[in-house]
Formats: sequence, C-alpha cells, structure tokens
Amino acid sequence: MSLKSIKHYGIDPRRLMSRYIVALSLILFCVAGGHYLSISVVDSIRSSSDLISESINQSARVERVVSAAHMADALKTSTARQRLKAEIDEIEQFHNALLNAAAAEQAVHALYAFGGKGPALDPVMRKFIADARLLTVVEQDAQVAEAALGRLRWVSGGMLPTALQEANQGHQLAGRTFSSRLSMVQNWAFALAVIILIFEAVFIFLPAHRSVRAAVDSLSQQAADLTVARNEVEARNEALEALRSAAEHDALHDGLTGLSNRRGFERRIEALSAAARGANGGVALLHIDLDRFKEINDTLGHAAGDEVLRHVGRVLREEAGPTDVVARIGGDEFILARKSDGRRDALSDLAARIIDRLSRPVSLSGESCQFGASIGIGIGIVCEAGEELDASRLMANADIALYRAKELGRGRYEFFSEDLRDSLESQKSLSDDLILGLERSEFFPYYQPQVDPTSGRLVSVEALARWRHPERGVLGPATFLPIAARLKLTDQIDRAIQNQALKDLAHWDEIGVHVPKLSLNVSSDRLRDPELLELARSGATPRGRVAFELLETMFSDQLDEPARFAVDALQEAGIAIEIDDFGTGHASLLALVSLSPARLKIARELAQPALVSPQHRALVQSVCEIARSLEIGVTAEGVETEAQRVALAELGCDRMQGFFFARPMPADALVESLQEGRLISASGEPIPIAG
Ligand code: C2E
Ligand code: CA
Ligand code: CA
Repeated sequence: MSLKSIKHYGIDPRRLMSRYIVALSLILFCVAGGHYLSISVVDSIRSSSDLISESINQSARVERVVSAAHMADALKTSTARQRLKAEIDEIEQFHNALLNAAAAEQAVHALYAFGGKGPALDPVMRKFIADARLLTVVEQDAQVAEAALGRLRWVSGGMLPTALQEANQGHQLAGRTFSSRLSMVQNWAFALAVIILIFEAVFIFLPAHRSVRAAVDSLSQQAADLTVARNEVEARNEALEALRSAAEHDALHDGLTGLSNRRGFERRIEALSAAARGANGGVALLHIDLDRFKEINDTLGHAAGDEVLRHVGRVLREEAGPTDVVARIGGDEFILARKSDGRRDALSDLAARIIDRLSRPVSLSGESCQFGASIGIGIGIVCEAGEELDASRLMANADIALYRAKELGRGRYEFFSEDLRDSLESQKSLSDDLILGLERSEFFPYYQPQVDPTSGRLVSVEALARWRHPERGVLGPATFLPIAARLKLTDQIDRAIQNQALKDLAHWDEIGVHVPKLSLNVSSDRLRDPELLELARSGATPRGRVAFELLETMFSDQLDEPARFAVDALQEAGIAIEIDDFGTGHASLLALVSLSPARLKIARELAQPALVSPQHRALVQSVCEIARSLEIGVTAEGVETEAQRVALAELGCDRMQGFFFARPMPADALVESLQEGRLISASGEPIPIAG
C-alpha cells in the first residue's frame, strides 16, 4: 500500500496544518473581537458614568457659584473672586466637554441645543457663565453686578437646574441605550463565535480527526500487512535455504553411495591440503578402480552393479579415518585421500587391505559374485610452508600409478614415480607416432629361421614385426605391441606384416631363393578380421607353405564361434595352425587338440629351463609324447645353446628356433645368408642348410 492512499475524506493528514492555521486564525479573530467588545463595553460604561457624574457635579458647581454670588461681600476679596473664577472656568470647561460628548448622541445634543420639556441647556449655561464672570470683575458697575446677580438667582432657581437635570437624564438614557446596543453586539459576536466554532468543528476538526484516524488505521493495517508479508518472506527464505542446502548436498554427493562426488571431492581436497600445509606434511591420494565391474554390469544387470558400488562405498568408509576424504568420482572409480607424511608403509597396508576386502566374493541376491580392484597411489608433500599443493597434479599422478597397476595385471597397487610418468609420456608420444607409422608403412617384418635340429636344415621362417621409427630407429614388438593393443591397432600391424611377408615369399620364389615355409603371427583381433580369410582364399597364401601362429592365451577361454569358424576355414584354405608360446597360457590340452593344430611351439620360458630343471624336462617330454601320438609337431623356442639344442632334441622337439641358429633379420640379410648357402649360428659357426 502506497503512502498516497493515506488521503481520506479528501484530506491528506500530512497537509492538515494549513487547515489548522485557518481554524486558529478564526478562533483568534473571535477572541480578539470578543476582547475588543468587552473593552468597548467597559469603556462606554465608564465614560457614560463619567458624563453622568460630571453633569451631576455641574449642578453642585452651579449652586456653589450662586451661593458665592449671594455673599457679595465675600467677593470683595481677591481670593474669593479667584475661587469663583476658577469655579466658573471649571463649569465652562466641563460644559464644553459634556457638549462635545452629547454631540455623538442626537437626542442628548438636542437637549443642549434646543431643550426638552425645559429650556435648552447650552444657551442658559452660557448666559449663566457670562453673568457669573461679570461678578468676578473688580471695578464692576454695581448696577450691572446687581442685574447679573439677579439673573443668576433667577436662572439657578429654576431654568438651569431643570435643564441640567434633563441633560443628566439624557446622558443616562444615552449611556443605557449605548450599552444595551453594545451588549446586543456582544451577543451577536458570541453567536458568531459559536457559529464559527461549529463550522470549524464540522468542516475542519471532525474531518481532520476522521482523516487522521483513517490514516492511522490504514497505517496500522499496512504495518500488520507488512508483518504478515515479512513473516511470509522469512518463511519462504527458510524454505529456499533448506532447498539450496539440499541441492548443494546433492550437487556435491553421489546419490548411490552417499560419498562425495567429483565436485565434492575437489572442495574437500582443498580443505585437506590446506590442513596439511600448516602441518608441513602432505596428502596421499589412492585412486581405486574396480576390475571386471563392466562384466558384472553386463551379466548380472545394473541393479547388481549398483549393489557392488554401494558395497565398495561401505568398505572404503570403514577403511577411511575420520579426517580422510572418500569419493566416487566416476562409474567404478573411487578416491581415498588422507593426510600423509610421505611414508609408504602405512599407505601400502591400507591399499593391500582395500584390495583384499574388495577381492572377496560378494553375495548379490543369492548369487556369489567376485570382482577386484586396482589402486594407484600419489603422494603430494608440501615441504616449504606456504607452498600450494596441486590437487589436480596429485590426481594425475595417482592416475598414472593406477594405469601402471592395471597394466601389470590388475588386483594390485602401485605408487607414482617420475619414471612412471616419463614412460607414460613416451608411450603417449609413441601412440601418436604409431598411428602415423601405420599410415607411412613404417612396419615391416624381420625373419627368424626355424630349423630341423638334427639336420640343421631350414624348414621355415617366422615373420616378426619391426617398426622403423623415424627418430628411434628399428623398434621391437615389446615396445609397440602393448600400445597397439590399447589403440586396438594390432590387427592393422598384423595385416601390414603379413602382406609384406607374403610379398617377400613370392619374391624369394621368383629369384629362386628357397624358403620352405612362412610362419605368420596372428593376433586374436586379426583372426576375427574377415579380410584374413579373404586373403587366405585369394591364393596369396600358397597351400602348405604358410602357418599361422596363434597364442595359447587366445584359447584360455572357450574359443568363440567366429574364431572357431575362422580357424576351420583357414585350415581348409591350406594354412597350418600352430599354437604359439605353449605353456604360458592355461588352455586345456583337450581344447587345443580339438583345433587340430599342426604344431605346438613350446615357449622359451618352458623350453630353456628343461636343460636344468627335471620338472620342466618332464613337462616338455610329456607334451612331446602326447603331440607325437596325435601327430602334432613340436617346436622349441628360444634355443640359445648347443646343450639346449641337444637336450630338447632328445626330448622330442622336431623343430627349433633360437639365437643358437639365427637371430631375427631383415629380408635382404636372410636372402644373403641363403644365397651364400649358410645361416649364422649363435656360436658363429655356419650351419649347413638343405634347400
Ligand atoms: P614370438 O612369436 O614368440 O616370437 C619369438 C620371439 O622370441 C621374438 O621376439 C624373437 O626375437 C625372440 N627370440 C627368438 N629366439 C630367441 C632366443 O634364442 N632367445 C631369446 N631371448 N629370444 C629369442 P620379438 O621379435 O621381439 O617378438 C616378440 C613377440 O612379439 C613375438 O613372440 C610375438 O608374440 C609378437 N610378435 C612379433 N611379431 C608379431 C606380429 O607381426 N604380429 C603379432 N600379433 N605379434 C607379433
Ligand atoms: Ca610367434
Ligand atoms: Ca613364441
């Protein structure tokens, strides 16, 4: 409600003063008028009583003059004459004054000038005064004096007292008339004052009173409304505040686990690092990533996945100290941050405990399910007081450590180190280079001979991938295959190597350099590549001269349908299948045999110790026996010494590959060796080979 609406009965209470001034002026006028009238009444009463008493006094004076005139002797003294003269002056003076006063009242004036029932006072009085004065003159003629005295006696004996009395009565009457007129005026004035006051009461004070009361009422209503409105606003503010803090809580927490989310974590890590700064300490950050979580989600459903995440949240909260920060920062990624002095022991214990607890089976609606966790640990130490702890850098460090933990086989923890960062950075730059390298055809094969251990004849060459890096020179698969696997580019490297090796084989045939067989490494992605089958069916792989080496680890799990189909189709196309690195995987021999491979290649890790370890020896022997009974060939890998050659040959390995016979070499080096009719053995002795 605005202040404008305070106006009531046409009156704005803020402008009442002008009305009050008018009212007060009127009251003042009435009071002043009344006062003036009262003074006038008193004045008129006083002056008319003065006139009356003076006119009475005149009679007394006239008598005194007359009696003085009677005693003529007495007038012989000058003092008596003086006294008489003064008396006459006084009579004349008062007569003039009375005459003047009578002039205001016509009736009285007529008595002076013309007389009433008696004679006119003024001429009689003037004659009397004149005769009396004659008596006061010293050398007055006695006759004249006698006549004057006679007239005095006559006049004062009748005419003058009558005229004086009449004038006196006239004055009294005039005074009464005037004062009754004045009191009438006074009555009117009083009536007027009453009317004015009634007018003021009706037109000024009453409306003003009403207006003020209405204004006060409306103001108090407004005040009440305002109080209601203020209470409403306060209530609304409180509700908003509650909503805001609920929203803030939601914004900073993960709804599923109740832990902090990424934003909440960022806020809390600031506080944690601030606390650590003061203590000249630091902050340790454990980045926890679940292993096989995706599998649980995919196979058991999202509800199970959620239950797993809640379980992880509970475990972490139980392991965390009161000042630690625990957060879920991504799908299956968690963080535990705590103050740290940089010592690793306690952190190692904590990480091991968490991994142990998270690797135990969890029961999900009756079903037991197992997953695991990998942890990367970064430690940020604030050595100098005041130095800021870089939380995002710390996070990145823990990330690098986690990456390494996963790379090393999961279910473990790793601490961050600068070396780790360097190797990651070089891996990163290698990743970029690798993509470019594929485009620029920088990948090419080296060839390593496989020989018959008894005759020493070359029976096959294995194509081994190499990368001619523009800056780093020729790189081996250990450097680039893990990167290619992460980039899912292994099949492309395989394709490049296989195409080149098949071209080389065709070229060697053309130039008459006899290479009996070519072994090609085939990754599991490449095996599923439809183009491989097309290649095999296109005739590019001469029947009976090409073998595909498939890693045993590819068969650890049941071979899926497409892979199984590919293996069958390749065999139909005349390609021999060999199981590579046999003894390093966990594939069942039965499953492998069902693939009807042409050959098992016993891994270096198994073959080399066979010379010294009876267990390995026994193992290799039984593998060879089973293989022989199934008509499957056995190749020993990593043969480096003559003793190994002899021992492995005795155990039944019918083919060998290793530095003892030849190192992997470029195509032209292989051609050269073959053209010269020899290969270089590890001992430097030429080995005769049969074409
Ligand atoms: P692999 O298939 O078992 O190849 C044999 C590896 O053993 C080669 O390493 C070879 O240089 C090495 N070697 C041979 N004889 C000896 C020896 O007497 N002593 C020792 N210590 N090592 C020996 P390389 O060339 O570094 O290849 C490593 C692995 O990379 C290969 O193991 C193979 O699994 C993979 N690989 C190589 N080329 C390709 C390819 O084109 N495609 C795929 N998918 N994998 C490839
Ligand atoms: Ca191989
Ligand atoms: Ca191998």
